[in-house]
Amino acid sequence: MDVVESLEALRAWRAGVISPLGFVPTMGALHEGHLSLVRRARGECERVVVSIFVNPAQFGPGEDLERYPRNLSRDLALLGGEGVDLVFTPTPAMVYPAGFATWVTVETLTERWEGAARPGHFRGVATVVLKLLNLVQADRAYFGEKDYQQLRVIERMVRDLNVPTTIVPCPTVREPDGLAMSSRNAYLDAAQRQAAAVICRALGAARQACEGGERDPKTLAAVVERMLAAEPLVRIDYVAVVDPVSLEPLTAIAERGAVCCVAAWVGAVRLIDNLLLAAPAEDRG
Ligand code: AMP
Repeated sequence: MDVVESLEALRAWRAGVISPLGFVPTMGALHEGHLSLVRRARGECERVVVSIFVNPAQFGPGEDLERYPRNLSRDLALLGGEGVDLVFTPTPAMVYPAGFATWVTVETLTERWEGAARPGHFRGVATVVLKLLNLVQADRAYFGEKDYQQLRVIERMVRDLNVPTTIVPCPTVREPDGLAMSSRNAYLDAAQRQAAAVICRALGAARQACEGGERDPKTLAAVVERMLAAEPLVRIDYVAVVDPVSLEPLTAIAERGAVCCVAAWVGAVRLIDNLLLAAPAEDRG
């Protein structure tokens, strides 16, 4: 496995590579969620590139940029065990050199939810992902449904800007108690870690209610809100039942299906999760 830091070294490697090339962008502190993307890429592509870059542009003031977990040697050992061909580990100065002045804004889709809670977050995400897609020139790039709004934003950007890379959505990988895997779970103490599992249980209860015939998005959101409110260590940021593509709040569940998105604080740690409550009509068996 090659590890390269510079853009030039990445370009040189890319020039000699056989297709299809798969790409998994990450911020490191790798867990089974990241590795599931890598395995999917490994299974579908001749060569696999993983990037590890904690992108300062997607963190707001007062967020956890400085203390975001970093463990490059462990990450490289994990990726080596997955048959990855190249790991790209640029520095912030390489990605954003002096005079950097061009930003990607995906409108509308980024206004609500994570975009509202974290101003500038999706501008940072879209910009770095477009830069990475331009550099790596992969045939396929793999993204987790865990970050549901991010996935939709990237799909929209790739479509709008004619980026010749296929975006492949990958299912959320969970801990045995249902908690969605996240590098930020490492911040939780034992009691918070246990409490955090309520997020997934609450989403599951809403799906069950939906499958049981409850079709009112407000009532479904209330199922989640009630369960989260009953856990004293958890504070709701938002619970939203939305259209799976536009992420607009739903007033009724229609053919396009419904996703429930949650953001909640567990102590000082902000966690997000989501679950498909109703599949789009064309996917329903
Ligand atoms: P991050 O390192 O948090 O930027 O995540 C890198 C990629 O891994 C993104 O596409 C995430 O959506 C994806 N990812 C993170 N956690 C999970 C998970 N639990 N299951 C599946 N994919 C995940």
